[in-house]
Amino acid sequence: MPQLRQNIILKEWVVIATERAKRPEQLREEKIPDCDSLPEHDDKCPFCDNPRSHKEQEFLRVPETGPWRVRVVANRYPALEPPTDSIHVYTEGFFRWMDGIGHHEVIIESPKHNETIANMDIGDVELIIETYRKRYLALKKNDYLETIIPFRNHGVHAGASIPHPHSQIIAVPVIPRDVMTRMNESIRYHEEHRGCVFCKVLNNELEVGERIVLETPDFVSFIPYAAASPFHTWVFPKRHSSDFGDITDEDITDLAYVLRGTLRKIHIGLNDPDYNFIIRSAPRGYSNSEFFHWYITIVPRLTRTAGFELGTGMFINPSIPENDAEYLRSIKI
Ligand SMILES: [Zn+2]
Ligand SMILES: [Zn+2]
Repeated sequence: MPQLRQNIILKEWVVIATERAKRPEQLREEKIPDCDSLPEHDDKCPFCDNPRSHKEQEFLRVPETGPWRVRVVANRYPALEPPTDSIHVYTEGFFRWMDGIGHHEVIIESPKHNETIANMDIGDVELIIETYRKRYLALKKNDYLETIIPFRNHGVHAGASIPHPHSQIIAVPVIPRDVMTRMNESIRYHEEHRGCVFCKVLNNELEVGERIVLETPDFVSFIPYAAASPFHTWVFPKRHSSDFGDITDEDITDLAYVLRGTLRKIHIGLNDPDYNFIIRSAPRGYSNSEFFHWYITIVPRLTRTAGFELGTGMFINPSIPENDAEYLRSIKI
C-alpha cells in the first residue's frame, strides 16, 4: 500500500510510492563520472586559469597572493544586479514591479577543472564553507537584501552549464514564497508548542536512527521522513541556530566532514548523479529567532518532475526514505 507522508515542517504531503518503489541501487546513474572523464585543465573554461578566464569583478581570492585555491567573482550573466540608486516599487495599472536588484556571485571552488566536493581534501571543503560564510556576512551588510541563498548545481540536470567545480550565491531584496512558507509554518509551530520544529524533527531522527546517513558531535545528515524525491537529504547543525552566518570555525570542520561525506556516499553509491544543494538560512529580520533553524538540503536529480508535481506541488517519491538511508550508510567512504 502506498503511503501519504507529511513533512511536519512545511505541512506538505508526499506520496511514498511503495508499489512502484525502486531498490536504492536501481537508481544508480549509468555514466562516466565527470571527474573521471574531464581533463584537469580546460583552455576554453572561464573558471580555469587561461587567457579566457573570468575577468569579472573579483570579491575574494584565497590566498590573496600566489596560486589561488578559491575565488569569488561576479556572475558574468547575473540574474540580478546591485542597485545604483534608491529602491522603488512601481505600480503599472494592475501590476507591480521593481528594478532587478540583488547580487549574484560565483564561488570557483578549485583551480582544478575536474574536482568535485565529494572527492576533495577536507581542508579544501572547509575553505569553501569558510568562503560561503565570508560572502554571506559581507552581503548581509546590505540592508536592502532580505534573503541570501548559497547553492550548488552539479551536472546539467541540476542546471550547471559549466562543469568546473563552483557554487553560487544569489541575494534578493524580497522573501521568496517558499522561504516565507517555511517561516510562517515554523512561527505557527512555535506559537502552538513553544519550540523549534526543526529541533523537534532533528531530535526525533537522532532517537529513531533509521534515516540517519552520517553524524558527528555537531552535525548530522539524514533522509527526511517525507522526502520529496529519492535520496533527498538534509544536513542539520545539532545546536539551534537560525543563521548560517553564525557558524564557528569548529562548526566548519564538522560540517565539512558531514557535507563531503554525504556527497561522497551519494557519488559512490549512485555513480555521480547530478544534484543541487541549498543552504537554507533565515531571511533578514528572522535572524536569531527561536523558531527557525538553518540547514542544507541536498537534492540528487534522479527523477524528473512531471505534470502532477507541477499541478499540485505534491511530489511522488518512487523510493523509500528508510531504504535510501540504509543504502547510503552502507557505502564506505
Ligand atoms: Zn575549468
Ligand atoms: Zn532549532
